[in-house]
Amino acid sequence: MTYSITNQCIECDRCLSACPTGAIQKTDQRYEIDPTRCNNCVGHYAIAQCWSACPTNHGCIPGITTVFNSSIGLTGSQDYWEQWFTTYNRMISRLHGVKHSEYWNDWFDGYAQRISNLLQAEHQAIGTEA
Ligand code: SF4
Ligand code: SF4
Repeated sequence: MTYSITNQCIECDRCLSACPTGAIQKTDQRYEIDPTRCNNCVGHYAIAQCWSACPTNHGCIPGITTVFNSSIGLTGSQDYWEQWFTTYNRMISRLHGVKHSEYWNDWFDGYAQRISNLLQAEHQAIGTEA
């Protein structure tokens, strides 16, 4: 999740020009951040410009995932679960390269299959939401 605008916004317009990606829009007297355009200012600034420009301090706030990611050392557009599956797949491919018993082969294959099924179900759920 990216930054978002709260009901503490006083409509000062400062974040509109501060955003480097044009993610902030004003619609029907409301300010909104387009999550597909907001990249948390990665590659532009070290801190989110909407948050730093906001005079209320609480008009633009980081989303929960952004806070969580930074608390575990991930930055910008890195996602916790993306990172988790990358690490998992790397470990599984290493383990598959090591000679081990049939029991562990079956265990890892079964586990990998379950993860794959979960991912497929999640992708399908996202597809039906869209
Ligand atoms: S975090 Fe940066 S890119 Fe995202 S809305 Fe705020 S200013 Fe724009
Ligand atoms: S900078 Fe803060 S108060 Fe001003 S328009 Fe943006 S969210 Fe609202």
